[in-house]
Amino acid sequence: MKTLPPGSTIGILGGGQLGRMIASAAAQLGYRTHVLAPDRESVASQTASSLTRADYHNKVVLADFAAQCDVVTYEFENIDVGPVAWLADRVAVHPSPESLRVAQDRVTEKRFVEGVGGRPARWAAVATRSDLDAALAAIGTPAVLKTTRFGYDGKGQTRIASVDEADAAWDAIGGPAVLEAFVTFTHEFSIVLVRAADGTMTSYPPPWNEHRDGILHRSTLPAPAAVAAQWTEAAALTGRIAEALGHVGVLTCEYFAGADGPVFNEMAPRVHNSGHWTAEGAVTSQFENHVRAICGLPLGDTAVVADRVEMENLIGDEWQRWPELVAAPDTHLHLYGKREARPGRKMGHVTRLTRR
Ligand code: AMP
Repeated sequence: MKTLPPGSTIGILGGGQLGRMIASAAAQLGYRTHVLAPDRESVASQTASSLTRADYHNKVVLADFAAQCDVVTYEFENIDVGPVAWLADRVAVHPSPESLRVAQDRVTEKRFVEGVGGRPARWAAVATRSDLDAALAAIGTPAVLKTTRFGYDGKGQTRIASVDEADAAWDAIGGPAVLEAFVTFTHEFSIVLVRAADGTMTSYPPPWNEHRDGILHRSTLPAPAAVAAQWTEAAALTGRIAEALGHVGVLTCEYFAGADGPVFNEMAPRVHNSGHWTAEGAVTSQFENHVRAICGLPLGDTAVVADRVEMENLIGDEWQRWPELVAAPDTHLHLYGKREARPGRKMGHVTRLTRR
């Protein structure tokens, strides 16, 4: 892969906070960024060089976008593969549409991970109401029913405590789904890995991720011993997934620390909320490393720079604590520039560093 010199343009599909932070990292390295997103409010465009507000399926727009970009990336996985593959025929797209295709469908994702020796929770594909009965008979309860596609932040999933809840769960999900056994775990953690086109890979030490209502609440490093004990195995599996996908850029895998080792939960072919701590807590941020990988630059050091790092999300109205947070020592406040704070919406985060 040839190195893209500073001054080149990175296209970003998606206009959310991840695109916003990728655009800032790109600007630091002298790149221009062009966001393509249909949303009325694209907070990525506030830090990007330019914005095209349009539907991803508009071929005229896509052709123009491809002509203006030297490389294209995406900042979320709920985008159809069609337009991304169409772009990939005209301009370099990293990660490839294949990473997107695998990561956006829970059935494909689990099969893929099993194929490289990973272990998800016991699961069954559920296409119809009667499939759900068969799956519950095979997997038992408690279990979690998740939509196959387009789930995020705990949305598109429902817990099933006993078989009498099957009708309600099916009504709530109402389409192609997977049933997963409910995993008993001590902690959740993630591996944020970055892979260059020449196959070089590096990953960050894993944070312990605590969720509330299915949404990431806090990531802490160093993670407790139960996570540290599973770090090597989870990092190796994430590496095998990246390798098998031919992934270029950041790839994040989420795990449960189970009694018998790491249980794979899900992957994201992109920078991830559980890697936000790297902006101040690591030598090189996940955003900069993503830009480095997709532009053919050498990857940066992933070492942690403090004794303890904690990243806490500001969800909904929590962002209003900003005057207190911005005044606190060793606390880095990030606000995403969103106009409206709806319940459950990620509005910002803070990262706290502790040095002994
Ligand atoms: P997901 O969007 O699939 O990552 O799920 C959101 C959160 O729900 C996870 O971070 C877990 O806290 C919980 N969760 C999801 N699947 C399971 C499972 N099979 N067993 C136990 N907890 C789960």
